[in-house]
Amino acid sequence: MMTNLVLLGPPGSGKGTQGERLEEALELPRLSTGDMLREAVAHGTELGRKVAPIMAAGALVPDAIVVGIIRERTGKSDCAKGFILDGFPRTIPQAEELERMLAGRGTSVTMVMNVEVADEVLVRRCVGRRLCSNKECGAIYHVEAKPPLKEGVCDLCGSPLVHRADDREEAVGERLKAYHAQTQPLEAYYAERGVLRGVDGVGTPDEVFERVEAVVKPLVVGISGA
Ligand code: AMP
Repeated sequence: MMTNLVLLGPPGSGKGTQGERLEEALELPRLSTGDMLREAVAHGTELGRKVAPIMAAGALVPDAIVVGIIRERTGKSDCAKGFILDGFPRTIPQAEELERMLAGRGTSVTMVMNVEVADEVLVRRCVGRRLCSNKECGAIYHVEAKPPLKEGVCDLCGSPLVHRADDREEAVGERLKAYHAQTQPLEAYYAERGVLRGVDGVGTPDEVFERVEAVVKPLVVGISGA
């Protein structure tokens, strides 16, 4: 029996942070299409060169690209017990492809966690967000809410912090527009299938994770502390 979770939520909702914690608690791999695409951009691969301008503008990359990435990644052996999808699906066609793909493997989406945060809060979070440039570390900061001890430097590993190109205010506006137009319809899609659960995403990461755990616990045997 596989446990397949989907994290749904606008940019800056904290679903990446919650996804990392869930990954540890559930011992399931977190698959972030955003991370995978950024890696392709950083390595300057053919895919990376194709998607870089789309991502920098805050738009969505074509469905076929992310569906291909997820099809391949979810087929790997570390996904045998299930996985946590972070940032996929983001459109109805992606959700339909995912449903078909999983049905072909005799499984389905177990639960969709919708992390809910108002737009004004999201813009502030993204614009102040800073990420550790060391991929192995991946620590996340915020210039006001969670500043590093030394400006621009990661507390954990000493690497420089970076501001994502698409966390600039203009790009965040575009990403929110794309979210409302293309991704939010997934709420109704998954509500119809009876798997949608809402979580209030406003609060500290610890506070939000308590809510996330409460929602996930009844479904999953093996969450730490359960
Ligand atoms: P994220 O880190 O999840 O915010 O993703 C960063 C960017 O990667 C998005 O703004 C999109 O340009 C692209 N991206 C990530 N996942 C998807 C997806 N499922 N569909 C389309 N574009 C995506």
